[in-house]
This record gives sequence, structure tokens and C-alpha cells, in this order.
Amino acid sequence: MAVSYSKPAIHEAASLRLCSSCKRPIMPGKKAVAFLCPNCGKIIIWRCYECRKHAITYRCPNCGFEGP
Ligand SMILES: [Zn+2]
Ligand SMILES: [Zn+2]
Repeated sequence: MAVSYSKPAIHEAASLRLCSSCKRPIMPGKKAVAFLCPNCGKIIIWRCYECRKHAITYRCPNCGFEGP
């Protein structure tokens, strides 16, 4: 396609999810789970498929709750 790139490509860094376990970004379209922190209920915990599969622990950045 003949598209003129007059603007720099914008990456959605702000909306990119970080896995709460391994801190790696979860790419759009990748399998991941999101759930509210079971302790404080204020933070949405994201876990990538790999961490879910291996039951890596996560840590809530708000209350410090750690879970499997
Ligand atoms: Zn992960
Ligand atoms: Zn929490």
C-alpha cells in the first residue's frame, strides 16, 4: 500500500499489559488472563499464558498480595 508515513508510528505503550509475574509485555492477541486482585480488588492482575501454565506467582502492586 502506498501510505505516506508523515507521522511517526504510535505504539500503544500506555495500554500494553505487563504480566504481573514475569513483567514481560503481553502482546495483543496473545493468550493471557486478567483478574482483580483477590485481596484488595483494586488492581487488575495480568498473567501471560506462560506464567499461568507454570503457576508462577504474581504480586499485587497495590497491596503486595502474592498468589499462585
Ligand atoms: Zn508472564
Ligand atoms: Zn491487591
